[in-house]
Amino acid sequence: MLAATLGVPAISTGEMLRAAVARKSVLGERVEAVMAAGKLVCDDLMAEVVRARLAEDDARGGFILDGYPRTLPQAEMLASILDGVALDAVLLVEAPEDVLLARALGRGRADDTEEIARARQRVYQEETAPLVAYYDSRGCVLRVDGSTSIESVKTAIHRLLGVTAG
Ligand code: AMP
Repeated sequence: MLAATLGVPAISTGEMLRAAVARKSVLGERVEAVMAAGKLVCDDLMAEVVRARLAEDDARGGFILDGYPRTLPQAEMLASILDGVALDAVLLVEAPEDVLLARALGRGRADDTEEIARARQRVYQEETAPLVAYYDSRGCVLRVDGSTSIESVKTAIHRLLGVTAG
């Protein structure tokens, strides 16, 4: 919804990887088992995926990254890919773990069993949570309560970003 309002592409690394698995590309075959286990694809492979995607024409006027970066090395890599261009904002959408678990199980994706969802939460705490301090120290984190409805989360994000349409 935000991408549509801003007129920029929403780039979800998870979606890109799921598409690669579905079409059985070389990338897809390399990441399938890791994804099925709820673990993270290695940073080097993610760097290739994101570097190539951000080089596409539609990303020249801006973009939303969803699900990337997820580790400190990925954040450093993103800074190097962007080569001096700073991120406008990092959105931290927070909700209690039981709410997130219920939502994940409601999506009905193959990799959304309770065991895998819990594994993802552990990976998040260990590898992704440190990014909050990383981006906080750069002054760009905006915090949003993600436990409410889609509509009110959207409104809160638009307000934080100073977006008026939608
Ligand atoms: P998502 O849809 O963002 O939850 O991503 C689904 C799965 O794709 C994750 O559980 C990881 O296995 C993989 N993945 C997506 N983005 C990344 C990333 N930035 N780094 C490593 N693995 C990723």
